[in-house]
Amino acid sequence: MAEIAKNLINGAWEEASGGKTFENRNPADISEMVGVVTKSDKTDVDKAVKAARGAFNEWRLSPAPKRAEILFKAGELLTKRKQELGELETREMGKILPEGLGDVQEAIDMLYYMAGEGRRLSGETIPSELPNKDCKSVRVPVGVCALITPWNFPIAIPAWKIMPALVCGNTVVFKPSNYTSLSAARLVEILHEAGLPRGVLNLVHGRGEEIGEHLALHPDIDCVSFTGSTAVGQKLAAACTEKGKKVSCEMGGKNAIIVMDDANLELAVEGAVWGGFGTSGQRCTAASRIVVHSDVHDKFLDMFAGAASRLKIGNGLLKNTDIGPVISSVQMEKVLNYIDIGKKEGARLVAGGKAYKEGNCARGYFIEPAIFSEVTPAMRIAQEEIFGPFVSVMKAKDLEEAIGIVNGTKYGLVASIYTQDVNKSAIAERDLDTGLVYVNASTIGSEVQLPFGGTKRSGFGHKEAGGRGGAIDMFTRWKVIYRDYSGRLQKAQIDR
Ligand code: NAD
Repeated sequence: MAEIAKNLINGAWEEASGGKTFENRNPADISEMVGVVTKSDKTDVDKAVKAARGAFNEWRLSPAPKRAEILFKAGELLTKRKQELGELETREMGKILPEGLGDVQEAIDMLYYMAGEGRRLSGETIPSELPNKDCKSVRVPVGVCALITPWNFPIAIPAWKIMPALVCGNTVVFKPSNYTSLSAARLVEILHEAGLPRGVLNLVHGRGEEIGEHLALHPDIDCVSFTGSTAVGQKLAAACTEKGKKVSCEMGGKNAIIVMDDANLELAVEGAVWGGFGTSGQRCTAASRIVVHSDVHDKFLDMFAGAASRLKIGNGLLKNTDIGPVISSVQMEKVLNYIDIGKKEGARLVAGGKAYKEGNCARGYFIEPAIFSEVTPAMRIAQEEIFGPFVSVMKAKDLEEAIGIVNGTKYGLVASIYTQDVNKSAIAERDLDTGLVYVNASTIGSEVQLPFGGTKRSGFGHKEAGGRGGAIDMFTRWKVIYRDYSGRLQKAQIDR
């Protein structure tokens, strides 16, 4: 049965003011309507921002450990509904169920992790150069945050932003991707049920071009955290900076795996399949390039193409499915168009690359996992983010050349290296110009307690998630406090 996703504004679930809706259909079978979503316009955004502003002062002043208790409770509620939400994600955006469940688990991890942060959020005390005076720096919330998210992690990415924003004392207007409105609504419903006061978290559904920019640039928004494409992120980062807003953007990638001549090839192939074709290649961290040492290139390619052709394509709710559909007809056309581009550029298609319509896949957006070899670094298929089951394999004569190829794009999110040689690993860790580096593991697998984000055109501003430099830095400002209890005028630098 089709579900309904409404806006949540000032604690009330409501239809958008214009009364319009749009449909979300299952990309594995577009005859299935997953839900009907209310379609907001700018009036709804204004209302949501006003509600968030109205709730800010009280929420800011509530003790952080109390705010954290609500997150902890939401963690327990989400744990109980993990299966239901994992299945909803699979129906809404196509990823296979184990990945859908993993996505929900990541949100649960983030809820518990950020609940713990409620009892930390620590600053520093630093000695003064003057007697009877103390100095400290404290974290304060930024204000009202606009959080804008993509569809490929419908629950985890929103959780990466909402939980730290709330525990730090900010209020939120959340605009999820229109492809995954229902999953987003269920997450917000759980936080609401866990006891968030009204207005603290508001949800508006709709298309990015229609309401996203209006939300981000709204004069009453203090902080914008965006995850999505580089094209949109760059534009938002520039416009928000110009308006004096705090802004962070996590954007696209062209991630790569290096396979050295001493690598455990079975392990590297498994990593390439998982990195290249997990979530049908629709992860910001997807391994869309594999750079292989010339001495093992042919053997690796054979093994990789064999493994890819054995992947079972189908509806992600069915057991044994390895690879689900891509998100939409537009995305399907885009990936198939890149297959043509690759052929025209002179690369060799060694596996897949066709629309897949067998059995019950006829009404979905399925593509056979594609592998190109004889790809050279300047080709478009080696430079541009494709965001589908599409991997370009390249050759390198040594580690230095491989690192040069990996670093030679405008992106810098993730790189990985397979090698048994500790010295090569150390050089790669040092010289790969990406936000995350994996050794003997694929490009996928970040954990919530460490920071996440890219360099160059993959990331702008603060990183996401936990650890030093992570989301707590994004959602707080440092305030410095000097308190003089000497009872007289003391002058720093002058009284000596
Ligand atoms: P997208 O940029 O089309 O949309 C992302 C979000 O922004 C959506 O909510 C959308 O409605 C909204 N939006 C669109 N146009 C807007 C505008 N002009 N102003 C404000 N908001 C707008 O991206 P997508 O297709 O949803 O997601 C895929 C992209 O996201 C890929 O490039 C992928 O690499 C990237 N991504 C990055 C990360 C990361 O952490 N680096 C994680 C996941 C996805």
